[in-house]
Amino acid sequence: MPRPTGQSATVNPTYRRSSRIIVSDALPDEAAVIVTSEQTSQPSIAIIGAGMAGIACARYLLDGGFRPIVFEKSRGLGGRLATRRTDHGLAFDHGAQYVTARSPQFRTFVGDAIARGAADYWRPVQRNGADVQSDEWIIGVPGMNSLVKPLAEGIDVRLACQVANIRRHGYRWWVETVDGAVEPIFDILVCTAPAPQAQQLLSAEPAIADALGAVSMAPCWALMLSFAMAVEAPFDVRRSTSDDLAWVVRDASKPHRSSRETWVIHASPDWSRRHLELSAADAVQRMVELLPDAVGMPLPQIDHASAHRWRYALTTSPLGRAYLCSDDRTLFVGGDWALGGRVEYAFESGRAMAEAVAEAALHLPR
Ligand SMILES: Cc1cc2nc3c(=O)[nH]c(=O)nc-3n(C[C@H](O)[C@H](O)[C@H](O)COP(=O)(O)OP(=O)(O)OC[C@H]3O[C@@H](n4cnc5c(N)ncnc54)[C@H](O)[C@@H]3O)c2cc1C
Repeated sequence: MPRPTGQSATVNPTYRRSSRIIVSDALPDEAAVIVTSEQTSQPSIAIIGAGMAGIACARYLLDGGFRPIVFEKSRGLGGRLATRRTDHGLAFDHGAQYVTARSPQFRTFVGDAIARGAADYWRPVQRNGADVQSDEWIIGVPGMNSLVKPLAEGIDVRLACQVANIRRHGYRWWVETVDGAVEPIFDILVCTAPAPQAQQLLSAEPAIADALGAVSMAPCWALMLSFAMAVEAPFDVRRSTSDDLAWVVRDASKPHRSSRETWVIHASPDWSRRHLELSAADAVQRMVELLPDAVGMPLPQIDHASAHRWRYALTTSPLGRAYLCSDDRTLFVGGDWALGGRVEYAFESGRAMAEAVAEAALHLPR
């Protein structure tokens, strides 16, 4: 992993790089003792969110000699880089479908992931028969969330640990989890939740909350289907900017997937907004009704159907810079919504925050 550039990239020789892999679902009171800046001279750093932005930020900080703690509300890594596994051995990439890599740092990361077998290229047949895209499409192996896992090695991630409240204490930060546990005070707090959720958590920081209000994100209903027989569609991917179903994909066309006939369908932002409060069962029914038209033929028998609502899926109006930070440079807020709704932008936001945090750690206010 390349280090952040500039002064912030300097590895403080008093910091000992952890060789532990601490990805646990331990609740805070059962968790390993948290090292705080009272016990060592290290600044203590909390990161909210174990999606690409949070984990990239933590990775760069760890490689720079810091020891951040990541709090993640769900039971797995990856956030919207997600893979749903069923009890019947099916797997669906129901969030991000593929990544593109344009910045040198993200290209390096993706190249390493491909070399390690955690990623591969995907060249699906598209609706018009072409199987090429303007960018290379890269997928995680065996699922999209595999892209985050190698980055998380050695990072102290607290899974199933939702942050309910953040309280400022002078220049420092208390983090309170939903079960009422209050984590030791942190010198620096990084929040990578989707912008509307970050805005709620940070309502006591008016300048940050106001700036977050300018970001907009659209929802997306995702339908996951498997069929008893092959769907004889002449494409693997069909996109539409005007239809109710924006994305119809034979998930099984990705390399290193099972041979089952799995499909993922994303409703358009408009349809998802109009049907946001449907139950998952109703969303399945309504989206399945729309599918034969989108595929252009009757469908074989469905043997699995489920739906997931992404309330904050896609960034429609980004912030326009890599992150926000408080005047005292103890609070950093970023995520894909900062630069645009893509995995690579989440990575860039996380990387930029790590660089800024490392710089801020040299001049912490007291
Ligand atoms: C349906 C869909 C399709 C997409 N398709 C593509 C695509 O094809 N290509 C592409 O590049 N991008 C795609 N994207 C966008 C891509 O998934 C995101 O840009 C990227 O994954 C965002 O990463 P992130 O770390 O910024 O946010 P997230 O992945 O959302 O991570 C934020 C994390 O914070 C956690 N969190 C939030 N609040 C709290 C709290 N209070 N306490 C603790 N943890 C908390 C969340 O659980 C989550 O894990 C798609 C997204 C969706 C939903």
